[in-house]
Amino acid sequence: MKFSDLPYSRAALEELTARLDQITAELESAPTPESALEAVLKKDKLTRELATQADIAYVRHTVNTADEFYNAEKDYYDEAMPLFEENVQRFGKALVSSRHRARLESELGGLLFGNTEMSLKTFSPAIIEDLQRENKLSSAYVKLLASAKIPFEGKELTRSQLIFYKEHRDRGTRKRAYEADAGFLNLHKGELDEIFDELVKTRTSMARKLGFDDYIQLGYYQMQRNSYDQNDVARFREMVCSKLAPIIAKLKAAQAARLGLDALHLYDDSALFPDGNAVPKGTPDEIFEAGRRMYGELSPETKAFFEYMLEHGLFDVLSRPDKAGGGYCTYIPDHEFPFIFANFNGTTGDIDVLTHEAGHALAAYTARGVRLFDLHSPTYEACEVHSMAMEFFTWPWMELFFDDAGKYRFGHLSGAFSFIPYGCIVDEFQHIVYANPNMSPGERCEAYLSLEAKYRPYLQFGGTPFYNEGRRWQVQTHIYERPFYYIDYCLAQTVALHLWAMSQNDFKGAWDKYLSFLTRGGSMTFNNLLESAGLPSPFSPETFDAVERSVSAWLEKEGRSHAV
Ligand code: ZN
Repeated sequence: MKFSDLPYSRAALEELTARLDQITAELESAPTPESALEAVLKKDKLTRELATQADIAYVRHTVNTADEFYNAEKDYYDEAMPLFEENVQRFGKALVSSRHRARLESELGGLLFGNTEMSLKTFSPAIIEDLQRENKLSSAYVKLLASAKIPFEGKELTRSQLIFYKEHRDRGTRKRAYEADAGFLNLHKGELDEIFDELVKTRTSMARKLGFDDYIQLGYYQMQRNSYDQNDVARFREMVCSKLAPIIAKLKAAQAARLGLDALHLYDDSALFPDGNAVPKGTPDEIFEAGRRMYGELSPETKAFFEYMLEHGLFDVLSRPDKAGGGYCTYIPDHEFPFIFANFNGTTGDIDVLTHEAGHALAAYTARGVRLFDLHSPTYEACEVHSMAMEFFTWPWMELFFDDAGKYRFGHLSGAFSFIPYGCIVDEFQHIVYANPNMSPGERCEAYLSLEAKYRPYLQFGGTPFYNEGRRWQVQTHIYERPFYYIDYCLAQTVALHLWAMSQNDFKGAWDKYLSFLTRGGSMTFNNLLESAGLPSPFSPETFDAVERSVSAWLEKEGRSHAV
């Protein structure tokens, strides 16, 4: 069956709530381990049903936002889902305190129980109002950034349309684009300060109501960090700062020399070559066709995956009127369908969908056999290994997408590498902010500037309004919307770079490790997934050093060949 033919009927929350409460009662009074297991499996079935219907409604809403029916369905789930949470928590309590727990754990593994205990610590009815307030503030932030209509060279642009000019090969254009962006942001900096200040206070208040000293530990639990803690993350950042940052500074000095500049300004950071970065070729249809060929050749697994996606109509990637913006990958459990949504427009972003989002989709497809839906997908850093590593495994096919694929590969690897110190800035900033919830907006910006100086001393901010006040973090949406979600990308990138280095000498060996990492879905913690796939931990100094050596050697060599 194709996605478009899937039947849909609203998962009515009242009915589901009643069923869930019934299952919870069965688990609580289960006379035998077998009957307790049966209750857990019933709950799993219910979770899948709800996710299936809510996801179908969401996808159908985004592929045609003019469809009134699915608009209303999406609104229904947005409102109803949070109300369901209390009942889910009650089931969780029954699960972790079940007298059959030992037998259940030996049948299902311990992770479900550990994760449930963690999520129980993050919720109490006392914080419902705070959660609603947090959602409202996040939405106000998203709305504010989306409202931008920025006058630029006779046109009116959104912030995402402006990116093209911020990365333009002509330096003057880049500078003007940043200034235009700053013009809009400057007008709204008071609001940006206020929304964030409220968010920090709301999150801190939630944490205290739940018995935490500050928001940091609650944030870690919300991200389900179940195999490393704040100290591990601090040590990782320290390695980045002491070992990686100096190497990046050297590569950036070489970049400045290639561009004929004394120093790199904020608006020069992404300009790698004086004659411009790599530009993709082909129409959106041709790019998609090249993707089919690439996955057909890459491995038997990707060939089967891509054909499965086509057979069931699980791509919607071409732009159309009334389609929602952006791109995503989701998974519809009852039908075992990953779904990739995008808006191809003939830019490098299209290639990213075909590599990054397809990595997520391949992972969802490969983990179809995982028994419990709650363990189908792992924590976010592991998910980003799925996608970021796929970006590198597709390297040998980049000639299909670029006239100058060498330039693309250089830009991709150096971008991935120099991203890590930036990601650490974002992460350390949030630790500082939530450890000191009474900082003033001005103090937060000062802290941000000092982190830029610590991790990216080569980057100049002078002269560009807004950014020169230490406000770059205010356009990093995760900081407002998804607290503590960022170090995930740095950890994942380190693992992806390790796989890249391996694939340079032994493509098949690296690919097999990657597939074995995917197969286990979310049935293990991040660290255990790595170990069981024979992959090293990004927290290990030896791994970190080895990755850093291979990447910098490759970039130095290739950078010289690109010298002008
Ligand atoms: Zn991703």
